[in-house]
Amino acid sequence: MQWAPSVLCRKAVDGGNEDSQDWDGRWNHVKKFLERSGPFTHPDFEPSTESLQFLLESCKILVIGAGGLGCELLKNLALSGFRKIHIVDMDTIDVSNLNRQFLFRPKDVGRPKADVAADFINSRVPGCNVVPHFKKIQVFDESFYRQFHIIVCGLDSIIARRWINGMLMSLLIYEGGVLDTSTIIPLIDGGTEGFKGNARVVLPGMTACIDCTLELYPPQINFPMCTIATMPRLPEHCIEYVHILQWPKEKPFGDGVALDGDDPQHIQWVFQRSQERAAQFNITGVTYRLTQGEKAIKNNECTIILSLLFSAACASEVFKIASSTYIPLNNYLVFNDVDGLYTYTFEAERKENCSACSQVPHDLQFPSSAKLQDVLDYLIESTALQMKSPAITATMEGKNKTLYLQTVASIEERTRPNLCRTLKELGLTDGQELAVADVTTPQTVLFRLNYTS
Ligand SMILES: [Zn+2]
Repeated sequence: MQWAPSVLCRKAVDGGNEDSQDWDGRWNHVKKFLERSGPFTHPDFEPSTESLQFLLESCKILVIGAGGLGCELLKNLALSGFRKIHIVDMDTIDVSNLNRQFLFRPKDVGRPKADVAADFINSRVPGCNVVPHFKKIQVFDESFYRQFHIIVCGLDSIIARRWINGMLMSLLIYEGGVLDTSTIIPLIDGGTEGFKGNARVVLPGMTACIDCTLELYPPQINFPMCTIATMPRLPEHCIEYVHILQWPKEKPFGDGVALDGDDPQHIQWVFQRSQERAAQFNITGVTYRLTQGEKAIKNNECTIILSLLFSAACASEVFKIASSTYIPLNNYLVFNDVDGLYTYTFEAERKENCSACSQVPHDLQFPSSAKLQDVLDYLIESTALQMKSPAITATMEGKNKTLYLQTVASIEERTRPNLCRTLKELGLTDGQELAVADVTTPQTVLFRLNYTS
């Protein structure tokens, strides 16, 4: 199945000619890519003047997240000719954002990031119309997301990424098992953390989605407290010990002063104490850099540079797809400078039974003597699913029965006893369908229960 970026141009959009406020030569830098061919252009690319009109007048982009990546993305997109941009962000500006989220000023502290970012771009880039949404992505429905040609994310939350991924999957239309490619909205995802960054292009229903590669996101590492406290083996254990136990006890910078990952004095203190602890246990490898990384420093120079790099990578992918000038990234770019510098591009493969994008029913294999708690644990702990607070419902004798639901206290209390019951006691049969809802996806995921004995 071939998917051509040019399908974007055929999609109906509410475009229109507005006062373009274009001065002579304004888009020359963009025209160089759109109006002439070259050795690296897409094999099907035909230079034309229409592409620029499409970018300027019709192409509608959604940017999710107005943080470190989002600010850069907005600027990059606006200067590349995109004018119909929406931005969604639920956060307000904190003073610690100002060193890198360059659309914000001290006077903006406390205001919604989306609003300020949109105002800044709109006032600075004539003709650009950024529409802000100071909201969670989860409050919007399918009709909102369907209006965009391309969605680009600069998020720091895996749950939010998975949710938007699931939303784009739900927009796909299959006819007789064949995907209608005009329902595809490409997702460009950028992310940075500490000394690592990545950018990826997801063509929903066609290439690996966020959930296909869930195993790449390691589950949050929480070292067992007993290891940290009594038998550390790794340099990380020593740093965690100092952070979790020694800092609150010794209060090195006064009562109530929280460890600030941006304060070199704080990091220095943690580093020295961690070295001392490591020496006691003959552990090597505690470095200043590891101490920094371990404390998820958000504001260091490296993170800022990574935001620049990956927002640029993401914006150029948006440009490539929207203009059909170049072949998009296929499909995953990683960068890591924890230790030296490493960068690599590879093609992440679709997972045949991906819970988000595959059309196959998902099987759960359990003996009938297993308890509902076992199923719940599996949904949370399985590296392929990594759900957060799954709610499980079964249809029995034509009625929906909630077996367990955690997010509403009264229902949690009522359904909690079910966790200790076996699947058989709950009246579930072999082949029973279970519908599971979770914050990681906008849709319920259907599982089929198969008894192993
Ligand atoms: Zn998938």
